[in-house]
Amino acid sequence: MQVDAEAMAKFWSYVDIAKGEVSCLGIVEEIHDANSGSITALVVTDFFLVRQHCSADETTMDPAAVAELMLDLESKGIDSRNLRCWAHSHGSMNVFWSATDDECINGLANGEYLLSLVVNKKRDAMCRLDQYHPAHLYLTDVVWEVRYPMVDGLAEQCLAEFKAKVNEDHGLNGYRRLVRGTEDHIQDLHAAHERGALTMEDLENEMGFWPGELDEERPF
Ligand SMILES: [Zn+2]
Repeated sequence: MQVDAEAMAKFWSYVDIAKGEVSCLGIVEEIHDANSGSITALVVTDFFLVRQHCSADETTMDPAAVAELMLDLESKGIDSRNLRCWAHSHGSMNVFWSATDDECINGLANGEYLLSLVVNKKRDAMCRLDQYHPAHLYLTDVVWEVRYPMVDGLAEQCLAEFKAKVNEDHGLNGYRRLVRGTEDHIQDLHAAHERGALTMEDLENEMGFWPGELDEERPF
């Protein structure tokens, strides 16, 4: 679950302006796996503010205004069935799913799925996913993140700067220590044999526990 940075910035603005609660509806874009066709991510690409009545602890969207928004989207070539996210703020109160929220989510049931986001002015947030088919099931605390737009050339610029300034080990330090430790141990065993502390048989037995050669390229 992701929310486009610009859409989120818009929603936070409404949240900051509102004295108490406020609601928004969001357009959800499905990201599909190219091979299986299954949904791999849901991205909220935009939020819309509709006429509504709000108080310190309630937010009610005008059903006629919601219908108008749907018509408006259709006239712009946007499938209004993708209006599958309800985002609302609890103002200065904690974020949780209240009985009123459950009612509102039930009212928005669309036969497929609905994402809900509840936030507050402190920037606490919780995301919920309701699925209506084949039965109504929901997850109350879905992991979500803000999706930042890719800026042309920024990734290439970061890569060049990183390569110029960061000297990275390749994560094999532990393995190199093991190889070095093993080599030291083998030398110790040979030294012990040379000074007569270890018979040839003992040495061979001991050596059997240690690989003669370790492959630096393929550590494990
Ligand atoms: Zn609520």
